[in-house]
Amino acid sequence: MDPSRIVEEFPAPSFRGAQRRALEDIRAAFEAGNDVVLVRAPTGSGKSLLARAVAGCARRAGAAAPTEPVGAYYTTPQVSQLDDVAGDDLLEDLSVIRGKSNYDCILPGETDTPVDRAPCARERGFDCPVEHRCPYFSDRAIASSRPVAAMTLAYFMRTAGSDVFGTRDVVVVDEAHGLAEWAEMYATIELSPSTVPVWDACEPPDVADLSDVEGYTERLTTVCERRQTELRSKAELSPAEVGERDRLAELVRELEWFLEDLRDSDSPTTWVADRRETGAVTVKPLDPARYLHHTVWDRGRRFALLSATILDKAAFCRGAGLDPDDVALVDVPHTFPVEHRPLYDVTQGKMTYERREETLPAVARTVVRLMARHDDEKGLIHAHSYDIADRLRDLLGEFGVGGRVRGHDSETRDAALAGWKRSDDPDVFVSVKMEEALDLEGDRCRWQVLCKAPYPNTNDSRVARRLEDGAWGWYYRTALRTVIQACGRVVRAPDDHGATYLADSSLLDLFERARGDTPDWFAAQVDRMERPALPSFETAVDVAGGSADGRERGGRRSRSRSRSRSRSSRSDGIDDADDLDDHPLSDVWGDG
Ligand code: SF4
Repeated sequence: MDPSRIVEEFPAPSFRGAQRRALEDIRAAFEAGNDVVLVRAPTGSGKSLLARAVAGCARRAGAAAPTEPVGAYYTTPQVSQLDDVAGDDLLEDLSVIRGKSNYDCILPGETDTPVDRAPCARERGFDCPVEHRCPYFSDRAIASSRPVAAMTLAYFMRTAGSDVFGTRDVVVVDEAHGLAEWAEMYATIELSPSTVPVWDACEPPDVADLSDVEGYTERLTTVCERRQTELRSKAELSPAEVGERDRLAELVRELEWFLEDLRDSDSPTTWVADRRETGAVTVKPLDPARYLHHTVWDRGRRFALLSATILDKAAFCRGAGLDPDDVALVDVPHTFPVEHRPLYDVTQGKMTYERREETLPAVARTVVRLMARHDDEKGLIHAHSYDIADRLRDLLGEFGVGGRVRGHDSETRDAALAGWKRSDDPDVFVSVKMEEALDLEGDRCRWQVLCKAPYPNTNDSRVARRLEDGAWGWYYRTALRTVIQACGRVVRAPDDHGATYLADSSLLDLFERARGDTPDWFAAQVDRMERPALPSFETAVDVAGGSADGRERGGRRSRSRSRSRSRSSRSDGIDDADDLDDHPLSDVWGDG
């Protein structure tokens, strides 16, 4: 790697905000001998452009001995982030490769068949006449030969050990804050009727401890291998059998990995197992440092890990299996005015399981009042769980404002979100787990509500185990990280603005407990927080055309209101006297 090239490798024609300084700091961190540089870069700092500049410093083919790794990987856990990269003209030299299921076969009669179910996957020894034009294999060949290959973290981890995507000089991980959790998720083994093709032949026993799982895993591996042999003996497989064959291969790899790690007394990974009422068993690793070594740290020489929310360097390194002494932290300042990203205290009590029945109706009434305050602006509700989302939507319907409310379930998630984003109506979208990877710039969303402090679920055995070990700092940091990510959804550029309302009083407690881990720029938001003046519930219901006793008086409101109102009479308390287009920071890159 040659960090001295970092400025010339920056792909934009000019620098905005703190980008130039960030590049110099990253360069200095690598030149000081650090193998890993954490770049804490908030929304709008142009993270993807910084990532491209770092990747461009990788050793080039021709400038290295044949045995030295060259080139770079760019990887991110978020599919939407990879989509943004693929569509960004400034990043066009990043060669994007996705998983096989994202591509269709091009053979006649197979054009609706995804590549992982195509004839080359179904028939033993199939010699495809058009493989050189196959969209998947072409993209893969291009990505494997170009200086920067870009892929999701899932694909990156899956290709560990492959000949095609071997070790490179530099690896850049974008949105890296959840690296340990993503690794835990990918290393988690789900054993259920839908994930184990031979379930009926080998159901799990009652799981009292890991020794029960160990014995079952051995038996299951044998049964899977027997079925693999049967499938291999067939000359041609049906699409369903192709799926079964691939799943069996994946499952056997997972089971063997688990058994090897479990029996390795030097492995730092602790495994835990849960058995659900359905009989399904989940085997999960705690601190999967070894898994990360195999899938990430062995894949490059130097690493840049970028995120707005790496809150504690030492804790991050511990979770990711890194030695903090080899890791530098570069802090990029936030360049959006704090008054454009206000927090408001509209807390109504605790949203814990025990108190929710009492608090949720008060939260719903508050949402109605916020809908009146933002009567011409789109809003987002972070409901935290489908249980809260369903109850909230029921209550909003009872209060007569249901015509302005949208939602989703796990099946309709993407389509419902896309429909709401496309709409010009000032609708309110009740969402579950959308605190990250959403870009709601400008009028796409002007206000949002956090219904519940997003603490990890203590019913999860991994979480319970960590808390038994006293990992309360991790618990609070994890929730704070999600809150900070959520706040970044509605303010995407220096001249953008969006209000975040906090409905759960546990959030105030969280801010106090996690104060020491809070970035300065977010602490400034917390310190300015105030309780807003809202219209009364009765007035709010009246504005919406419902009635305070729950009867809806009118139908859906007209959607033809002028969108210009939101610029001239803003409802989040920001003074419009300053024309935002003239703000000195209005041209900072906003891709965070
Ligand atoms: S290699 Fe050929 S058969 Fe396989 S997916 Fe591509 S075009 Fe279809």
